[in-house]
Amino acid sequence: MTDDPHGETHLDGNAAAGTLAELFTFDVTVAVGRCAGCGRVSTVADTRSYLDGPGMVVRCTGCDSVLLRVVSSPERTWLDLRGLAYLEVDHVTEG
Ligand SMILES: [Zn+2]
Repeated sequence: MTDDPHGETHLDGNAAAGTLAELFTFDVTVAVGRCAGCGRVSTVADTRSYLDGPGMVVRCTGCDSVLLRVVSSPERTWLDLRGLAYLEVDHVTEG
């Protein structure tokens, strides 16, 4: 049984880390994003990740809007971030 609004199996945003690490050179799961739908501000880790489709979908835990989508073919990757009002990334300081 699942309490998922889509009746599907989902994982938290940490499950998206592998796919996103191929696109971003920083740990995107600790980046803070604002949902364009409800305005909820959270880390990417604090989202719901759906990995079973043809692409990966990350949804807001507040309003269920799609925050980002990643679809890959052998030749290229499409990244759809329209569900994010912004993504805030801390600068890495080298010690
Ligand atoms: Zn939302």
